[in-house]
Amino acid sequence: MPSVAPSGYRGLVSGSYEHPVPLEVPAVFAWPPRPLAAIEWTLRMILYPWVLLYLTMSVVIWKWLLPSEATMSSLELGWIAGIWLRNLVIVALIAGGLHWWLYVRRAQGEDFKFNPRWPGTGSKFTFGSQVRDNAFWTMTSGVAFLTAYESLTHWAYSSGLVHRPGWSSNPVVVVLMATLGVVFVSTGHFWLNHRIIHTVPLYRRIHGLHHRNPNPTPWTGISMHPLEHIVYFSGFLVWWVIPVHPLVILMFVFYDGPGPAPSHSGFARVRLGRWSVPAGDLFHQLHHRFFEVNYGNTQMPIDWWTGTWHDGTRTTHLRLKGRQRSDQTSVDPVS
Ligand SMILES: [Zn+2]
Ligand SMILES: [Zn+2]
Repeated sequence: MPSVAPSGYRGLVSGSYEHPVPLEVPAVFAWPPRPLAAIEWTLRMILYPWVLLYLTMSVVIWKWLLPSEATMSSLELGWIAGIWLRNLVIVALIAGGLHWWLYVRRAQGEDFKFNPRWPGTGSKFTFGSQVRDNAFWTMTSGVAFLTAYESLTHWAYSSGLVHRPGWSSNPVVVVLMATLGVVFVSTGHFWLNHRIIHTVPLYRRIHGLHHRNPNPTPWTGISMHPLEHIVYFSGFLVWWVIPVHPLVILMFVFYDGPGPAPSHSGFARVRLGRWSVPAGDLFHQLHHRFFEVNYGNTQMPIDWWTGTWHDGTRTTHLRLKGRQRSDQTSVDPVS
């Protein structure tokens, strides 16, 4: 009996977990509009659970832990070191916690795991190990540039360089900007900078470090070359032009800092007993696997508009396969 080619993501790797495909453009961009589906998508795909977690953390930090505007009005090592330490601890807890649960304890085995392989070793990695390599670049350059951009942004507002108008404290504006505003600015900016660093000279010199990982893990999220960190975190500069409440800046810290840890986790969901929450992003997993597709995120579907949207089906894979450059090899290539 002839074998039937698998049609979905499972056919593109050899694992046992089959993620639902095709990955569809969010209902919020549907035309004609589908308001109920758009609200459902916003609640389920954007807010729950990570954005709600980051929002809670942002409120706590803004209320009790953020230095005063008077303190942040001058650039001094003391308060910047405090922000660096806070970011170091939060990134370590989220990326390290997910890594410990999924890869050290292997608490859910291969349940919801996109790729059956586990983190690798080899000379392409700093210190010869994927985990050590990724944790190193995340905790050194990653946290340092995240802190630098955050601190400079707080300073710009506190020193009066950027004027914060009264309307930016309107509760409705704050909540909308801290959730949808942060998500759309971050993902739109990410598509743009990521698309640029995929051009050949920049890819070889800079972005290749992030792409050492065709099979990403939580520590891969912001494991990047320092020059990529400068570009990736430059999304903070949007808030130098669009004035916002400090809560929005803190949300941006967590969405772009520890945020990529769950999305790179390699597991579609993290399971705690019988309960599980969404984590890994198949759309970006496909980017790590096939390189020249899915430069952005599903939340801001620029890839759909530019023809590089890999929806996880074999049909789309065969159509987009020619985009992969010959100098970029992934593990177990799909024919
Ligand atoms: Zn990535
Ligand atoms: Zn890339």
